[in-house]
Amino acid sequence: MERLWWSELGTPVGRIGLLTGSRGLVRIVLPNEPDADAAPGGNAEAERQLAEYFAGERRTFDLELDPRGTPFQRRVWDEVAAIPYGRTTTYGELARRLGLPRAHRAVGAANGDNPLPIVVPCHRVVGSNGHLTGYAGGTGMKAFLLGLEGPLPRAGELPMAWTERRTAEQPSLLIGPRSTHIFCRPTCRYSTRLRHVPELFDSPAEAVARGYRACRVCQPA
Ligand SMILES: [Zn+2]
Repeated sequence: MERLWWSELGTPVGRIGLLTGSRGLVRIVLPNEPDADAAPGGNAEAERQLAEYFAGERRTFDLELDPRGTPFQRRVWDEVAAIPYGRTTTYGELARRLGLPRAHRAVGAANGDNPLPIVVPCHRVVGSNGHLTGYAGGTGMKAFLLGLEGPLPRAGELPMAWTERRTAEQPSLLIGPRSTHIFCRPTCRYSTRLRHVPELFDSPAEAVARGYRACRVCQPA
């Protein structure tokens, strides 16, 4: 029988379980999920990197991973793993990137079955209008992770304060509410009225390539 090891890590969102096999991290168990049945044993490197992530000091993970699923699920998880830190995408966009534009429900289901949440950042996949759809750890945890990474305000942070913080970190950032598909400079009055998670773009060209038009008020392009 295969040997698996289990360890736990305290984080700002609660106790996270790590299930590790001989080829790497097999499963990350979020706070409200059932514990795995395995022998106690640490994954010090995964614990260290996750602690750094929660401290805001790490943006990518460098770990041996052993996610187990069907070939289709593995394809979806690989694509999810490529979503950069601090960015969000939609189920529809993910399906298009996989060359399966009509399979967004199957893609969404595979995303929901991701055995390595946080490391394979399924929390960066949101509904088409930016709504935080289901998450194994709860939508509150999803909001926390997106607040930590930046695309969402942190708990209690108003949209204006969030915009000012993001602009200070990256002055060239452009913001595109999904409801309008119009992109703005962060200083535009329209970008301070966000109620849902918007798209973030590094350049006008990126925004246009994603199907957004330039705002006529702040003229970001
Ligand atoms: Zn604007």
